[in-house]
Amino acid sequence: MDAEVVVVGAGAAGLAAARALADARRRAIVLEARGRVGGRVWTDYTFGPVPVERGAEFIHGEQADTWAWVRRAGAHTFAAARWAGRRIVLEDGRLVGPAVFEQRADLQPVFRLEEDIAAYDGPDISLGEWLRAHEFGALAAHIADVRLAHANCATPETISVAELAYELRFSDKGPGDFRILEGYDFVFAALAAGLDIRLNMPVSRVRWGVEGVEVQAGTGADARTFRARHAVITLPLAVLQAGAVEFDPPLPEAQRQAIGALVMPPAMKLSIRFDEIFWDADMTFLTGAGALPVWWAVRQGVPILTALSTGERAARVAAHGPDAVLEQGLAALAALFGDAPRRHYAAHMLVDWAADPWARGGYSLVRPGFHGMRAQLASPAGALHFAGEATVFANNPATVHGALHSGERAAREILGAL
Ligand SMILES: Cc1cc2nc3c(=O)[nH]c(=O)nc-3n(C[C@H](O)[C@H](O)[C@H](O)COP(=O)(O)OP(=O)(O)OC[C@H]3O[C@@H](n4cnc5c(N)ncnc54)[C@H](O)[C@@H]3O)c2cc1C
Repeated sequence: MDAEVVVVGAGAAGLAAARALADARRRAIVLEARGRVGGRVWTDYTFGPVPVERGAEFIHGEQADTWAWVRRAGAHTFAAARWAGRRIVLEDGRLVGPAVFEQRADLQPVFRLEEDIAAYDGPDISLGEWLRAHEFGALAAHIADVRLAHANCATPETISVAELAYELRFSDKGPGDFRILEGYDFVFAALAAGLDIRLNMPVSRVRWGVEGVEVQAGTGADARTFRARHAVITLPLAVLQAGAVEFDPPLPEAQRQAIGALVMPPAMKLSIRFDEIFWDADMTFLTGAGALPVWWAVRQGVPILTALSTGERAARVAAHGPDAVLEQGLAALAALFGDAPRRHYAAHMLVDWAADPWARGGYSLVRPGFHGMRAQLASPAGALHFAGEATVFANNPATVHGALHSGERAAREILGAL
């Protein structure tokens, strides 16, 4: 045996699993395809005067599991989403502040959105159907879409309300969105410290049974087989769907059904650096329209705006190639700020996670009718244990802290069995 446990993937889930096993004095080896740890957490330190996140950016909730690692890393955070800093584009194209919510009766349901959805216990329907049944007006429905569908890599028609209700009912991470001043990577370096991580070791085949696993990894002269008693599989859902790793024997029916039922739509981030700030200096988040419906200022006083586009919208943005994405971003900003965005453009950074072979998408999504599939994907099979954001069923899937939590859950399963 090379180790008691082989962990496939050094993202949040894999690192958390390996850390929990190491803390219990179990020997774990982490095999990672990339030349770095972190997976969909990946900070850029050269694009601007402050770290800019190519993937995950926020800690969602003041009780998120990530905080333990923020503290261990000695990192600093700040609240990202002040209410007063929110801006929204109205039906007539005007950009306004949050006072509009107090003035417009038709926007009031947005304040109760999460609470009302959490209370839903009817048949599984899409968010779009739910919004129509609750007679949301066009702008209220758009805000709900951006908040609950777009933020989950979906459109209102492609996200399950039963799943949203379940997630919201069990969410105990508290309010708030926070950024890590030193960058998410900084925290992940602390999480990875001292672990046995083999980088540039793409796994191509996993032979598994009840007694143990044989994992083939690496290419060319570096190719080798690792034998262990257990494996934690943290491959992104879309990597599993692509069949990029062969399982011998094939995964059980429960996993195959879940892998087929869940989806992992695209997500892309476009960050644009300008030579001066032309938006109002208090702006934090901007809810706009079109295929790039969310923008935010990476820091107050720093001339960088980031747009997030997910799901079908991201596919639309990406359809004409990477150069066209910048043009679409500048056009969306020009509609709000006139010629300033083009005049002050300095540089941009585009990260398309669907084009990344080790992710192949943004993050996982449960479509209407498929509530329950995350738990099914997470169920252990012989020596295999599954972790990663797609396997989080009780609390906050598709997040960093959910992925950390899933890694610890998989480690507990193994510690119970060893
Ligand atoms: C654009 C974007 C924005 C996001 N924003 C936020 C946010 O603000 N807050 C938040 O909480 N979450 C956010 N998320 C979600 C968050 O990034 C993920 O939920 C989390 O990082 C997933 O961790 P994971 O360990 O499950 O998967 P990953 O981080 O993808 O880790 C899986 C690892 O497996 C590796 N791998 C793949 N194939 C192989 C192979 N064949 N062999 C070996 N290794 C392999 C990958 O390289 C990767 O390192 C965002 C995601 C994206 C894409």
